[in-house]
Amino acid sequence: MDLYEYQGKQYFARFGIPTSPGGVADTVDEAVAQADAAGYPVVIKAQVKVGGRGKAGGVKLAADADEARLHAGNILGLDIKGHVVRRLWVEHASDIAKEYYASFTLDRPNKTHLGMLSAEGGVEIEEVAVTNPDAIAMLHINPIDGLDEETARSWVDRADLDPEARAQAATLLVRLYHCYVEGDCDLAEINPLILTPEGKVHALDAKVTLDENASYRHPEWEEFAADDADVDVREKMAKEKGLNYIGLSGSVGIIANGAGLAMSTLDVVTQAGGEAANFLDIGGGANADVMAAALEVINADPAVRAIFVNIFGGITRVDEVAKGIIEAMGRVKLNSPVVMRLDGTNAVEGRKLLADHLSDRLIAEPTMLDAARHAVALAKA
Ligand code: GDP
Ligand code: MN
Repeated sequence: MDLYEYQGKQYFARFGIPTSPGGVADTVDEAVAQADAAGYPVVIKAQVKVGGRGKAGGVKLAADADEARLHAGNILGLDIKGHVVRRLWVEHASDIAKEYYASFTLDRPNKTHLGMLSAEGGVEIEEVAVTNPDAIAMLHINPIDGLDEETARSWVDRADLDPEARAQAATLLVRLYHCYVEGDCDLAEINPLILTPEGKVHALDAKVTLDENASYRHPEWEEFAADDADVDVREKMAKEKGLNYIGLSGSVGIIANGAGLAMSTLDVVTQAGGEAANFLDIGGGANADVMAAALEVINADPAVRAIFVNIFGGITRVDEVAKGIIEAMGRVKLNSPVVMRLDGTNAVEGRKLLADHLSDRLIAEPTMLDAARHAVALAKA
């Protein structure tokens, strides 16, 4: 899960990483009130989950309330790379002597964490990586060793940060590392990390991606998800029902047991000339409750024209799945026809159970490809 800048800064604050004082605003009046509170000059910043806001006109300095009002009005509603601005972050503006770059992320091939630090911040790091790769000091960190202050100091020296910034930067980097590891981030990035003319080092921006596999040990992440205007309503509903669901843009709803089979089902729907509306793996527990929940989520998607239920029984028995489908169809009034392919353990018993329920709304096909073709044809009808 990507965080907005203001959420990222809240997250940083928990780990003692210094940022500028400020607050969020959803209207022009709120923005002016936040600006008054932060103290002028202020910087008014679009809260969208995409980089390059500065270049797109989404970051503006304001010297007084009139300017704050003007900029807030211009930035709210602005479209930045397809993301419409609905919320602002307003903070006391900093004077900048130097802009640096700092981040931690995972280096999968090397099985380490990777720190990147550069004295050339403010611009996109991808750009620095191309034009001046030597300006990025890489640090591979064995997760067992972690990052200590001494290593951070030599890293800061290697990155050639300004001498007066080095001690503070080293301390800040150790904290950012704690935020990244204990905070279960996939990415913790500060660009720019600044040195002020007064010799203070702090974060002007925050880009944080949380590792959702760790959400079970972070109940406090709920508030970040609740604030997310970009979240897919279908995915939200599926999550509430405990389903493994990803929304897609096609018209064939998909239910399969097992992630591998669900992916194959997407492939076979594509092969048959259709487009999947979702990925949905119901896992091993294909009982009536799970099946009903899956059908409800898919049914709530107005783009869906046909539903393809693709089950290969293993430990899950197909007769149990069949009972689940029959019961679920009694509970959920479906907008689209269902095409089933049921195979594997107890498939014969399962098909027998379903025989009396078959209609032009509930169709059984003998193979995966037949079922895909039928579902695609129905979706296009
Ligand atoms: P991004 O473009 O989405 O990465 O947004 P940033 O938060 O990084 O802001 C973009 C640029 O705006 C920064 O690199 C700074 O140059 C400038 N900026 C942001 N905050 C301030 C501030 O408090 N004072 C000054 N002078 N410039 C700022
Ligand atoms: Mn930035």
